[in-house]
Amino acid sequence: MSSHSSFAKTVAHLKFTFTPEEYLLLVEQIRQQHKMFFEPMEKKVYWLRMPTYLFARCPLCRAEYTSIADTHSLFRWVISREEYRSIFSAYFQREGCTHFTAVQSFINLNGYFPTEVSYFNGDCGDIPVVMPELLLDEFHASAVIHSLPICRVEGNEFVPRYSLYTVTYYSDAPEEARQRSYELSFPNDSNDGDPSPIPLFDSSGRIIREPVVGDMPYWVKKGKLHWLDLDDPALPLKSGPVSDFPYAGIQGFGRKYIYRKRPKPRWRWLDRHWHPDGEIRSYPLNELLARPSL
Ligand SMILES: [Zn+2]
Repeated sequence: MSSHSSFAKTVAHLKFTFTPEEYLLLVEQIRQQHKMFFEPMEKKVYWLRMPTYLFARCPLCRAEYTSIADTHSLFRWVISREEYRSIFSAYFQREGCTHFTAVQSFINLNGYFPTEVSYFNGDCGDIPVVMPELLLDEFHASAVIHSLPICRVEGNEFVPRYSLYTVTYYSDAPEEARQRSYELSFPNDSNDGDPSPIPLFDSSGRIIREPVVGDMPYWVKKGKLHWLDLDDPALPLKSGPVSDFPYAGIQGFGRKYIYRKRPKPRWRWLDRHWHPDGEIRSYPLNELLARPSL
């Protein structure tokens, strides 16, 4: 198990709004009643009780970007490269100012198998990257990175295990900045005829062909990446010196990953490596990234 050196500092910022028993009971109720999603009862018992966190401060005007986030477990996290407006819920967040351009979330499993869920799609990957296309000088654009732990219930406790990393982009012309980013990423307007949305973001896998997108200290030195100071409970915005930057050298699969449990094969020889704790594969599932030892 390997968590980044920033992990311990992020733990100090965790908030708990449930007891583990209460939370597990609620999760079970929601699981059994899929239709409850966003119904008034679920809103009252789940969404409105989630802790609210500060995720970024606008480098242009200092406005706070806050959102609820369920840091009690992985259960409700849906990570998508197309989602650029919110971290956890577009309904329960406050962007803070008109400079808010986009936000991307990465979940790093820190070497654990999330056996409390049967499936988890790490669509953005686990090592945070920046999109240079969203950091253009002409829009006075820059980004803010932040991190929080996500727990799981072990015994009767919420134990911080995984890391959420968020990269929030700001610019003085968000609509134009996003449009330019699409154009730079898809110069030939490759979406012709394809109804699926073009994602604004890349996953950590971009590091393989372009290491600079994962080189966070490089972007700090360029003045394009800021962070919230984890050593200060008020989480002020910091832009340097780079020696204080807490997120250098984050390790992980470095690509999009999928964790899944599969039913036990009927005949063991069909899959000699099957394990009840599942496995982690890259997308599209042909490469095994991690599997519990047998
Ligand atoms: Zn602003």
